[in-house]
Amino acid sequence: MSRKQLDQNTLKVLYRLHRNGHQAYLVGGSVRDLLLGRKPKDFDIGTDATPQQVKRLFRNCFLVGRRFRLAHVRFGRDQVIEVATFRRQPHPDEFPEDVGEHAFFVQNQFGTPREDAFRRDFTINALFYNIADFSIVDHVGGLADLEARRLRVIGDPLVRFEEDPVRMVRALEFSARLGFSLDQTILDGITARAEIIATAAPARVREKLMDLFRHGVGDKVLRQAQELGLLKPLLAGYEGEETTFRLLEELNAHFRRTGTVDEAMLLAALFLKRFRHECMGHAAPPMSEAMHYAGQLLTPHCTYFKLAHGLRHQAKELLLGCFRFARGLGQRGHKRFLHNPDAPRALELFHLWSLASGEDQQLVKTWREALHTRDQAADKPASQPNRRTRRRPRKRRPARTPEV
Ligand code: ATP
Ligand code: MG
Repeated sequence: MSRKQLDQNTLKVLYRLHRNGHQAYLVGGSVRDLLLGRKPKDFDIGTDATPQQVKRLFRNCFLVGRRFRLAHVRFGRDQVIEVATFRRQPHPDEFPEDVGEHAFFVQNQFGTPREDAFRRDFTINALFYNIADFSIVDHVGGLADLEARRLRVIGDPLVRFEEDPVRMVRALEFSARLGFSLDQTILDGITARAEIIATAAPARVREKLMDLFRHGVGDKVLRQAQELGLLKPLLAGYEGEETTFRLLEELNAHFRRTGTVDEAMLLAALFLKRFRHECMGHAAPPMSEAMHYAGQLLTPHCTYFKLAHGLRHQAKELLLGCFRFARGLGQRGHKRFLHNPDAPRALELFHLWSLASGEDQQLVKTWREALHTRDQAADKPASQPNRRTRRRPRKRRPARTPEV
């Protein structure tokens, strides 16, 4: 690995720690990515210096974290380099009976670099780059696994998944992101322990889900999670099926094109198939019924993940937009809907749906044209005044004099 691949500020931090007599390693995902010739998202540093010692060395350093004390060294407005003191996994007999109260001490045991490598999740995530001699330190066989392009858990997958069930999702994530094969023990481990993912904090699962789509692997990971029985306990009892997985593929590609992950769209996509099924079961249900179905589908999920009302509302509007599109033009309220600022976004979802399901392609075209005509009309304000704002107030009728 060449130092040229490293970011200048990261090198500065590594060198200053080293010059002051501390061990200083580049650790975790950045070493893995550099060895694979990929661009790391961020650079993390491991050291034997305590957080206080790190703070004394850097003026631009802030200590953060309650459970693990970490040093953040800041450069400019945007760059943060995380410097963590080597830690070790606590032994089971070190846990006090009342873990809650003492968790901070238990989790924050400093350790040797070797111990720090063994507390990590996968062998390819536990490689260190030593700034003292520019060598790679490999305590866990990560180099061989990188070479063989396989993901392997450090230790027994069953035990490590029980310690932290989110590692099961991380396994699927890294395998999809890097194109690495999953060791059979990981697959067996996930199948055996899938249920315990339901014990992970919903906020963490939600963030992970967004992360998967940010990395462009949400569709793949959710499909594989379904195959391994992990999806249902992961998403509060959610049942996936083929059309939805195909829709997620289209959505994933859409997020990649636009460069942003739209959570309301993702939420609506997860429930669109079922929503349509509910609505189609009834011959053209009125809008109020459709609203009811949308609420019924979204509410348990939104409550479980504590999603904001605004987000739930947006997802509901997207579902209802798709409902309107599926009914075709000429229905009551369609003209007003064309002026709804959310209509283009709903049409995008409807379009992705049509690609995934092979249905409604003609309707997508018709609505596109209708929206296009609306936009053109909006460009000529004189010919198409906005009636809502231009409408004159009605003349008041003279008050009736009560009959005497
Ligand atoms: P990326 O940031 O590109 O998604 P990463 O490997 O840097 O990948 P992070 O989530 O940033 O992943 O975590 C940094 C490092 O911390 C990992 O490489 C791994 O060594 C360790 N780590 C993260 N999460 C866990 C976990 N749940 N269990 C054990 N070790 C973990
Ligand atoms: Mg990282």
